[in-house]
Amino acid sequence: MTWRERLPPVRGRLAFDEPLAPFTWLRVGGPAEVLFIPQDEQDLEAFLQGLDPGAPLTVLGVGSNTLVRDGGVEGVVVRLGRGFGDIKPLDGSRLYAGAAVLDAALAKAAGVAGLAGLEFFTGVPGAIGGACAMNAGCYGAETKDVLVEAYALTRQGRRLILSNEDMGFGYRRCEAAAGQRLIFTGALFQGVPDDPAEVQDRMGEITARREASQPIRDKTGGSTFKNPEGRSAWRLVDEAGWRGRLFQAPAPLGGGGAMFSPQHANFLINPGEATAADLEGLGEAVRADVLARFGVPLEWEIRRIGTPAA
Ligand SMILES: Cc1cc2nc3c(=O)[nH]c(=O)nc-3n(C[C@H](O)[C@H](O)[C@H](O)COP(=O)(O)OP(=O)(O)OC[C@H]3O[C@@H](n4cnc5c(N)ncnc54)[C@H](O)[C@@H]3O)c2cc1C
Repeated sequence: MTWRERLPPVRGRLAFDEPLAPFTWLRVGGPAEVLFIPQDEQDLEAFLQGLDPGAPLTVLGVGSNTLVRDGGVEGVVVRLGRGFGDIKPLDGSRLYAGAAVLDAALAKAAGVAGLAGLEFFTGVPGAIGGACAMNAGCYGAETKDVLVEAYALTRQGRRLILSNEDMGFGYRRCEAAAGQRLIFTGALFQGVPDDPAEVQDRMGEITARREASQPIRDKTGGSTFKNPEGRSAWRLVDEAGWRGRLFQAPAPLGGGGAMFSPQHANFLINPGEATAADLEGLGEAVRADVLARFGVPLEWEIRRIGTPAA
């Protein structure tokens, strides 16, 4: 029997060959061999304890930083939903948020509670699990600055509490979660008491700044490349002439084409009917061009998962 035939019983949703494109911002890519949406933490824990250790496992948040390749994702894809959506105030200046809580919803809750420090989450369109895994941040603040501890399950279904230090945070990186070793189920954040009106004003400023500078209504994956030491990725992409230029992978892989946003040159966008091959092909073409022109290796910030179309 294969691992697929020996999946543990669950209370949540298990689906086979489920398209993943609707679960990502870029809206491309093939299906998950198995998609699991656990009902709650106990459901996920029991599933992981019973899952064949040989089954590949991938975690997906709200897919705002993920490109799913056209051939889909082998193994089990876990996607956290409503059962991980609680926000709870604790000890006056702390907030617990489940891993499926949108970053913006946590920022809003902090604003209502009059807690400063979490305003930046308003500018990140992911969920808390993704924020922990990516050390998400913007405008000089990041998850590392406000996280007290994170709650996770190991691949074998063992519960862990990780302190801020245990997370091994770096620039858009969390060493503890590398290689899909952990599934975050929630996290505890520290705020600083402040006037709620002032916190909300600062969030309003972040939203306005985002609207003016980023293609937030497009099908995009956020920053495509990490900023190389001392350089701006967007400037390198722009100076190499790729802003707004349509790129199509060769048939039969190519679809409607992909481009770097005319509004922000480090934002890869799907202007309509792109395939994952169009998007990744463009990213790779730009990396090669920037390396050849400026000698700077660009590193992907967008997580690419799955296999190319056969
Ligand atoms: C318009 C736009 C603007 C953006 N601006 C910013 C920005 O300013 N700053 C910034 O940092 N990012 C930004 N991003 C990128 C993205 O929103 C963040 O990286 C976000 O933290 C990803 O969260 P997610 O839930 O979408 O994760 P996903 O894209 O679903 O996953 C990203 C990674 O996190 C892992 N992951 C997700 N959930 C869990 C979990 N529960 N447990 C373990 N691992 C998990 C996945 O396995 C994957 O490796 C932007 C994206 C868009 C589309």
